[in-house]
Order: sequence, then structure tokens, then C-alpha cells
Amino acid sequence: MKENILNLLKESGDSFISGQFISEKLGVTRTAIWKYMNTLKEEGYEIESVSKKGYRLICSPDILTFSEIKEYLNTKFIGKKFIHFDSIDSTNTKAKELASLGEENGTVIISEEQTGGRGRLGRNWCSPKGKGIWLSIILKPDIDPMNIAKITQVAGAAVCKSLLDIGITTYIKWPNDIIINSKKVCGILTEMSGELNMVNYVVLGIGINVNIDAEEFPEDLKEIATSLKIEQEKTINRKELTGRILNNFELLYRNFLNTSSLSASVKICKKHSILLGREIKIINRNTSTLGKAIDIDNEGRLIVQYENGETEAVISGEVSIRGLCGYV
Ligand code: ADP
Repeated sequence: MKENILNLLKESGDSFISGQFISEKLGVTRTAIWKYMNTLKEEGYEIESVSKKGYRLICSPDILTFSEIKEYLNTKFIGKKFIHFDSIDSTNTKAKELASLGEENGTVIISEEQTGGRGRLGRNWCSPKGKGIWLSIILKPDIDPMNIAKITQVAGAAVCKSLLDIGITTYIKWPNDIIINSKKVCGILTEMSGELNMVNYVVLGIGINVNIDAEEFPEDLKEIATSLKIEQEKTINRKELTGRILNNFELLYRNFLNTSSLSASVKICKKHSILLGREIKIINRNTSTLGKAIDIDNEGRLIVQYENGETEAVISGEVSIRGLCGYV
């Protein structure tokens, strides 16, 4: 009901709508409407109420609920169900929990903050409140578990394309980071539950530093992390960007599943790769090898040429890539 009332307020734009009208349209009492208006105000909606005229929405809060994002969303199945939290330990952890209980394909879990956000290999992911896009998508693809790592490339391509669509050029540091100005602005974490030849579910986590100010990053991240706001010197619309990312992701993901080919995403990943042509360090557990990144193949693997001339197709798994003199 609260959603319906909010919809009516949004539809009427700058004009007032009377309590009488809402009451007749939605079949609720005037007292109930008044209560819902108070709940909306508590959520941050600024609502003007004037006797004999009714209610008017002055402004909406900067929150990533379905009601706020839907005007930017044109997906078929991603985000048809949206679960929004004010605060949560990790959207990926929550998504895994819900997926194992049967939550449907395409459900999006999103939170204004994560208190225990995670990167790969259990590393921390800093996710301050209202400043980023911290979301996870539950996916149930009918594909070989061997192909799951490719979803990270699809997501990277979708984020990169969405940022380009709003005028921000970024680079992809294979396999899972988005970079601006040699610093990380977004990380992607794909996790899977499955058996040898069957996927139960995949949880795709995307964390984007949107409106974080430089001084808000903890000391150890200041040198390696940045945000869209820092780079663009302006606040970025989180709602629009969330919608665009989900739209682009769905398009590329459906293309990947329908064609059984990653090439559409790889094309974007290659065009925006920060590694290709560079000397890099490939860190696998405790060993570190030097090589040159020469290509990303259509399986989404990084083709590395070693000093002895041999080449290898590196799969993302547990490797970390570093530049010779720093993070990239
Ligand atoms: P890697 O960069 O080695 O591939 P991950 O992709 O797993 O590692 O990302 C986790 C790492 O990212 C953390 O160890 C930390 O250094 C860094 N990090 C944590 N939070 C953020 C953030 N909000 N923005 C950018 N980098 C972050």
C-alpha cells in the first residue's frame, strides 16, 4: 500500500492530491493514509500536506529502493524482485542465503551500506552508507560450472558500458576490477554453489564507489581506491546508474546465455582493458610470475606471454594481477 501511495504522489508531480482521492482510489481510510505518509517521511520523503488541498511530494531521498530505481529499469527478469536494506553485513552473503532457500533467478539484493563487505579471497570491501552501489544479483544459469567465471567478464563489461553511457571512461583490470586514473572504483565478486556438472546458483556482487569523498576512504585504501565523485568532481545519480547497470548486464548476460559465446562482453573488456600490452605480475597464492598481457580470449581468459616466449591462458580463479610498480 505504501508503494501505491508513493506511486500516486509521484504521478501527480507538482500538484496536490487529496486524501479523498487516494482513499477512493486505493480503498484505504484517511487515517491509514496519514500513517503511510508519516512512514514515507521517516524514510526521507519530503511530503507537503496542506488542509483542503491534500498531499504533494517535494523530494525523494537518495535511496536505492525499487520505487526509486524503477523509472530507470527496463529489464525482463533482473531486478523484478528487489530486496533493499538500509544496512547489512554483505549483500553477497545475504543473496547466497536467500538463493539457497529458493529465491528466484534475477532477484537483486541491495544495501545502502555493508558492514562486512567482501572482496575475493575473503578480503574486505569498504562500503560506506549511501555513498556507493552495493548490490548482488541471484542467477540460476543452466550452464557448466566451468563457465561461471565468465559472468565476471559480463558484469565488468556491463559496468564499463554503463559508465561510458553517462560519460565516464573507465578501464577494466582483468578479471574483476574497474579502474579510473589507476585506482579502483568498482570490484566484482562472483560466487557459486554447485556440483561437478550442475550450478545451483550464482551470486554476482558489484560494488561501486559512487559518491565517496577522498577523506572517507580508510588510510590503507587512499592510494588504490577512488570514487566517481572524486574523479568527476560532482555527485553522481546512484539511482540512474543502478538502473543502467542492471539493464546493460541483462542484455550482455542474455546474449552470453543465448549464443553460448562471451564475445560481445569480451569485445568491451578488451577495448577497455588496462592490462593489454603491459608487463604484469601474476600472483597465484604465494608465487609471483612476470609476463606480458597480450590478449583476452573468447573464453574470457587472459593470455600472458612469459619472458621465455611461452604463452599461457590464465583463468581468473584465484590469481591477482599487479602492475610492475604498483596496483595497475
Ligand atoms: P584484488 O584487487 O587483489 O584482485 P579484490 O578484487 O578481492 O582484490 O578486492 C579486495 C581488495 O580491494 C581489498 O583487499 C582492498 O585492498 C581493496 N578495497 C576494499 N574496499 C575497496 C573499495 N571500496 N574500493 C576500492 N578498493 C577497495
